[in-house]
Amino acid sequence: MQTPFGKECPFFYGDYFRGKNHEECRLVGTTISAQKWTNKLCKTCAVPNIILANACQFMNLKGSISEGFLGLGKSMQIRAYCEKSQTIVKEPQIGCGLCHPISEIFLTEK
Ligand code: SF4
Repeated sequence: MQTPFGKECPFFYGDYFRGKNHEECRLVGTTISAQKWTNKLCKTCAVPNIILANACQFMNLKGSISEGFLGLGKSMQIRAYCEKSQTIVKEPQIGCGLCHPISEIFLTEK
């Protein structure tokens, strides 16, 4: 579903049927941080760009809300884990590198 900021996100859900105005992020789920979620977090969230860049079926995303100092700078913190390599994915846009290894020409230093 499209977020209020125009990006596709599989975790965004909005129900506007018959005057309802219910929105939720299904990535944060029903945890405590789900209560702190507002759709403003979608504006700077990395998930739409991660999904666009990497459609790996083995990568799981987890999200939580970072409050920032005195509640300022509230943002989504995204963690990625690969079920196949069983490692934390440091660069979710690229992946862990097991299924699609990075070519050596990109790894050599000049
Ligand atoms: S906060 Fe991020 S993951 Fe959650 S609905 Fe918005 S864009 Fe999607």
